[in-house]
Amino acid sequence: MKVVVHRDTVGWISTQLLGSPDTLFVEIENDKGESISSSWTERGDGYWEIELDGGRSNDGNGAQAAKAARHRQRLLDKAKEYQTSTYVRKFVAPIFQRMIRAEAGAEMCGTAVVIVDGELDVVERKRGQCACVTCGAVKAWDSGIRGMHCGHFIASRRNSILFEEDNVAPQCSHCNYYGSGRAQEFRKWMLDVRGLAVVERLERLKTESRQFCRDELVDLRIGYAARLKAAQQAMKGS
Ligand SMILES: [Zn+2]
Repeated sequence: MKVVVHRDTVGWISTQLLGSPDTLFVEIENDKGESISSSWTERGDGYWEIELDGGRSNDGNGAQAAKAARHRQRLLDKAKEYQTSTYVRKFVAPIFQRMIRAEAGAEMCGTAVVIVDGELDVVERKRGQCACVTCGAVKAWDSGIRGMHCGHFIASRRNSILFEEDNVAPQCSHCNYYGSGRAQEFRKWMLDVRGLAVVERLERLKTESRQFCRDELVDLRIGYAARLKAAQQAMKGS
């Protein structure tokens, strides 16, 4: 039996069937001939309920959710080839750091509060640029290994602190690499801009132990990739 629904629809319909939908081959289509049947549920009163996913032409919902689920499964299968610590280092930490720079770059043109010569100061930046929090240098968000980095206030790479967004900020390669992170200036910036409570929370977190499972890491990776893409699109649109 085929039921045609004359509009793309998402939701539930119920129907009375003599038997199960599987043995009767009941399928729901939209008026473009696309299957929008999802899972059938027996209500127990002779009626069956079917969840409709809107079909492919209804841009989103069911079809996109299915695509996202397949993408996640592929990443998860791939993640099983790596130790979790290797997976973090190779796949999750790099995209997290890139996202931090991209989101800082995507902020509208304006000023950034930074440390210049040991004192709190304000520098101008355009959209697409980041300001180094420990010296005030302004560079494009994706200016490469010699340009803008993602600096860590607490340098520890322990899992408990690795993806703490409060612990990271744009920092130029000069400060981050050659200046070994310029801990004194970074601390002053953290206290002045993010506050003592944040600094204390990070210092407590640093000593805690934290394990990641592959599912969590894949979900973090997917979330960071989406935020990175959104930030890049925001910069493109400006
Ligand atoms: Zn710098």
